[in-house]
Amino acid sequence: MSTAAAAANATDPCVHCGFCLPTCASYRVLGTEMDSPRGRIHALKAIEAGELELDATTAGHFDSCLGCFACVSACPSGVRYDELIEATRPKLNAPELRSPAQRAFRQLLFALLPYPQRLRAVLTPLRGYAGTPLQRLARWSGLTRMLGPQLEAMEQLLPPLQPEAFRDGLPLVVPARGERRARVGLVLGCVQRLFDPGVNAATLEVLTANGVEVVIPPSQGCCGAVTHHQGELEQTRELANALIESFQAVVGPGKAAGPEPLDAVLVAASGCGHTLKHYDRLLESDQGAAFASQVRDVHQFLAELGLSDAFQAGLQPLSHSDSQPASADNPVVVAYHDACHMLHGQGISAEPRQLLRAIPHLQLREATEAGVCCGSAGIYNLVQPEEAAALGAIKAADLTSTGADVVASANIGCTMQLRRHLPAVAVAHPIELLHRSACGGQA
Ligand code: SF4
Ligand code: SF4
Repeated sequence: MSTAAAAANATDPCVHCGFCLPTCASYRVLGTEMDSPRGRIHALKAIEAGELELDATTAGHFDSCLGCFACVSACPSGVRYDELIEATRPKLNAPELRSPAQRAFRQLLFALLPYPQRLRAVLTPLRGYAGTPLQRLARWSGLTRMLGPQLEAMEQLLPPLQPEAFRDGLPLVVPARGERRARVGLVLGCVQRLFDPGVNAATLEVLTANGVEVVIPPSQGCCGAVTHHQGELEQTRELANALIESFQAVVGPGKAAGPEPLDAVLVAASGCGHTLKHYDRLLESDQGAAFASQVRDVHQFLAELGLSDAFQAGLQPLSHSDSQPASADNPVVVAYHDACHMLHGQGISAEPRQLLRAIPHLQLREATEAGVCCGSAGIYNLVQPEEAAALGAIKAADLTSTGADVVASANIGCTMQLRRHLPAVAVAHPIELLHRSACGGQA
């Protein structure tokens, strides 16, 4: 079924019960019916009936939606709000619905974020600023506030820039250690490889240590998640086709990575995983469907495959910040943060927790509102900075109340948002924690 046809059917089952409202992140901070799933569904029905115009005011109520899909999980009537908002987003990109400044800022983001080389060029001059006393001074002095809310939000999210972020040095094929149990491709993610390169490095180590051979096409770019979530479909399809081609260029008879097909294509960023799994609907081609059917989140894949006996036997307790190893009496406490595109978008919640529980003397604690969005939501925390900051503060308070030493986050956008709002707590990817345990490292 096409996206538009699916959307037309999707409003029908809504009985306006409001069960979705408490889970809705935008309703939480804006408090208005028009900024809730029920209100937006009502608005869509009115637009379809010709009773309401999609003007700039109405569009603003759709722009306030984070696309977190918590409402889909909460709805007892099976309303597919995810399909509704996906069909609506492209219409919001009509020029008359946003101000010239808003359009220009979005175009800047879409011209930069999906292209690692461009982003590297922009970030290079900031290497002497990000994570240094200069950045702290700029923030403390109030200088960054003069940038305006959107550029200030970008500055607030800017992490220290690591040397690995500026080079593509990964081999094409990384062989499995020991007996080979599977052969997979790895999607690196565009934002993840720049702002948190340790995640892909840890993913490679954990996979190969578990008998998985990994193929990394060197020409791979962005999967299209950034633009997909904003309804920029033409650019998303270009990026998606280019990503598929980057795999086809190296895997197959006579190709550099060898003829054997891949058992799966893995990704360690859940926002990317959600889009990659939708290539069938997005591209409406056999090629898109074939690729989408191979995509697995790395936690999903490892939980299905099972950690190898040798890997499990080598896992060590993590150490506390004072270098004391965790013990039964003094465990490292971890709160796993459910990224919306993992929990609501892919239905994955047990697998990352299962992998974390394999680490000795790690105690998992649950946040009270684990299913509510942290406010990151792709570029939401850049284009709607005030709402995103309010949600970030709510999430930070919820996670802090668990008493966790470490927050585990499997989506780069959430990780950056959480690091901004939880400066005193370590935030790491679950696979990084697994890797550190395998190396006997600090949490
Ligand atoms: S979307 Fe579902 S939960 Fe929300 S008002 Fe409609 S029927 Fe109720
Ligand atoms: S996707 Fe998230 S923010 Fe949007 S209506 Fe649903 S719960 Fe609210």
